[in-house]
Amino acid sequence: MLTIKRRLLLSHLAVILLGAGALGAYLYWAISNQMLEAVAQRLLDNVRLVESALDVEDIRALGDRADSSAGERVAGRLRNAVRLNSDLASAYVVEPLGDSLRVLATSISDRQIAADFLSAEEIGMLHRGMDKAMVSNIRVAASERAELTALAPVGTAPHSYIVGVRLDADSLQRSLNLLRLSLLGAILFGVLLALVLSRLLAELLQRRIRLLGERCRALAAGEPLPSGQAPIGDEFDRVIADFDATAQRLRETSLEREGALAALTEANTQLEFRVQERTRAIEEATHQLKSEIENRLQVEALLAEAALTDGLTGLLNRRAMLEMLAQAVMASRGNGGFSMILADVDHFKHINDRYGHGIGDQVLSAVARELEQVQGDSRHAARWGGEEFFIVLPGTSLMDACRRAEELRTRVERMLTPVRGLRVTVSLGVAEMQPGEVLDDCLKRCDQALYRAKDAGRNAVVAARGNTFATMS
Ligand code: GH3
Ligand code: MG
Ligand code: MG
Repeated sequence: MLTIKRRLLLSHLAVILLGAGALGAYLYWAISNQMLEAVAQRLLDNVRLVESALDVEDIRALGDRADSSAGERVAGRLRNAVRLNSDLASAYVVEPLGDSLRVLATSISDRQIAADFLSAEEIGMLHRGMDKAMVSNIRVAASERAELTALAPVGTAPHSYIVGVRLDADSLQRSLNLLRLSLLGAILFGVLLALVLSRLLAELLQRRIRLLGERCRALAAGEPLPSGQAPIGDEFDRVIADFDATAQRLRETSLEREGALAALTEANTQLEFRVQERTRAIEEATHQLKSEIENRLQVEALLAEAALTDGLTGLLNRRAMLEMLAQAVMASRGNGGFSMILADVDHFKHINDRYGHGIGDQVLSAVARELEQVQGDSRHAARWGGEEFFIVLPGTSLMDACRRAEELRTRVERMLTPVRGLRVTVSLGVAEMQPGEVLDDCLKRCDQALYRAKDAGRNAVVAARGNTFATMS
């Protein structure tokens, strides 16, 4: 994996190599150029000096082989120049001839060697002709020695003779090699230094990254952040400071959230408790309301019953009986179909007066019981008012109704009374509902029959047959 450390090392290495390489190359080029130029200039000076020391006439004579002593004179001057100038290794005079060179004189004994010092390029230049001095590149000769050669034309035109001097360039070559080695060493040292520095820098960065990583892990695990190192004022300090501030804010937010959650849970619990309480209260209220409604219904039923019942005798009251009669009329659809008996206690005022109101009430209750016995259905017997009673007999003819009235009269006459010696009798009027008759008319006829019974001496039954009345007993 390409870690930050490796990346830093590689990038630093590349920068140092490129920078140091370019700088080394430039330095080598500049220094070596300067050295070569200085040497070349000195060599040029030397070749010009040697050329000026030669006698042109001697050289011409040597070239023309006109004077045999001229060779020795030219060679002597060449040796003299080499001896006087310690820079020079040798000197010589050559004459370009077609494709070859003719060595006319040298400072050394072996003439052939002079030609070895000329490169093909230099020989070409010689053949083309030279008008000023020139210096060759450093060459390693057959003797494995590095040498430089400077050539200069001898005398004025035609320049058919060339003087050459050779410089031993071994020391120069060594200096250049040393320069190369020094620069290479400097580059290597730079690279090593860069590696060490990069490594130190990478270690430092890695340590800071590790520190940040440890803080991240601690934050993720909810542990306290490890104590940081002393700040060194770089960007990582700012990143770590920002991270610490963010972690702190996160913790605070987390605490706030936990607090809010606890408050919410508490509020929820309280709300649930209140809802439970309220539900319980509502249930209790509902239960209470239900029992109140039931009570109310019972009371209403009792009231309704009381509204329809006579409080003293327990029979239907007059209103209830009138409703019953209306229903009976509806059921018969105006075709009659029922009879009625109206009974009135005889001389009841007298009973009240003589025995008291309480006894009078007891008498009324006793008569009511007899009514029920005769009717058989308490829903069809009513207290019509005061000491008057009413019986409706559905599906009963007038004759049958008269028989029932007679039965009632007899029962009352014979019944036990609350006071010994007290005799109670009732007078009764009987009527049958005629087809198409209005209820009030029938009631009126029944009432008239009752009056007839009173008129007949009381304790009697009178039937209303149409508008005529018949005393039955
Ligand atoms: P008659 O034979 O003509 O019917 O005579 P009566 O005395 O029975 O008739 P009257 O109408 O003169 O008197 C009825 C009496 O009945 C008068 C009244 O005070 C009494 N009375 C009415 N209601 C009650 C009651 O609820 N209790 C008692 N004790 N007396 C009552
Ligand atoms: Mg009466
Ligand atoms: Mg009466």
